[in-house]
Amino acid sequence: MSDDGSFTYNGGAVAPGETQNLRYGISETYLGDPVRIPVTIINGERDGPTAFLSAAAHGDELNGIEVVREVAHEWDLSELAGTIVCLPVLNVPGFLAQQRYLPVYDRDLNRSFPGRAGSTSSKRMAHQIFTNFVEPCDLGIDFHTSTRGRTNMLHVRADMADEDVHRLGMAFGSNVVIDSEGPSGTLRGEATAAGIPTITVEMGEAHRFQRGLIDAALAGVESAFAEYGLLEQSSVRWPGWRTIIAGSDEKTWIRADAGGIVDMHYDSGALVREGDRIATITNPFKDDNEPVAAPFTGLLVGVLENPVVYPGNPLCHLVELDEPTRRVVEAEQAPADARGA
Ligand SMILES: [Zn+2]
Repeated sequence: MSDDGSFTYNGGAVAPGETQNLRYGISETYLGDPVRIPVTIINGERDGPTAFLSAAAHGDELNGIEVVREVAHEWDLSELAGTIVCLPVLNVPGFLAQQRYLPVYDRDLNRSFPGRAGSTSSKRMAHQIFTNFVEPCDLGIDFHTSTRGRTNMLHVRADMADEDVHRLGMAFGSNVVIDSEGPSGTLRGEATAAGIPTITVEMGEAHRFQRGLIDAALAGVESAFAEYGLLEQSSVRWPGWRTIIAGSDEKTWIRADAGGIVDMHYDSGALVREGDRIATITNPFKDDNEPVAAPFTGLLVGVLENPVVYPGNPLCHLVELDEPTRRVVEAEQAPADARGA
């Protein structure tokens, strides 16, 4: 931010009250054409913090793109106090190929932050993004989905030991927060390490727009922006129940012990009890079925969508719920007639 309240990046500035849509060059193709990421910067007329919203660091994870675009282009931001930096597609080469990684040597852009000038192509791209559009911010939300072939219920990943990240992680108002430090090279981890508290929002599956999840994430963004005063008319929302998963014994990836074709018996977000059969691994003749039971009572945060496994492949991600939370979730998931509705 410059003294007059403008948001500045290498090559431009966005004054208070101004919105800019730009395509910013971060690399060049084999043909020498620019690789440009779409960026929308909305600088409110009133002072306030600067927040970035980013998506598609993994090129095939699409839900977040719609979240970021709707904030940028459909929200009424006339009362905005602060600046929003919208980065709907970080990994443009991956997005064009509809694949997770950068097509150049299959590099993971989300392990290349904060990047470095004069280094590999992925680190140069990360460096351009990071220095121009992340470093000037006060907080950030990076949207992801599950890896192809699996799906996640909407949840936040945040380093809850960091006071500033904790504030943002709570403000987003998701039911489930998985407390972990962002791995080295991730946008979340490196932005947080650089003093910009950043959370990841995981939602749904790759290659899809899932309207219900997009709406839930938009509500989360509004709630987070309310917490930081970007949107004074909005309020921070309480999600009804919340569980913060910290220790590794409170969560587990249940892995297949047999190869086969998987019959999943629950959707992501379902509550399962210890001993419940979550899935059945079958062979082509359906004559040697292998049941998979829940090792403890908890919530299925992630499940397999592409129903085939080798031994060792993940089937689902189960997180433990404490007793009071379990009862609230149970009531919420009970059939409508049982709730008297
Ligand atoms: Zn991702």
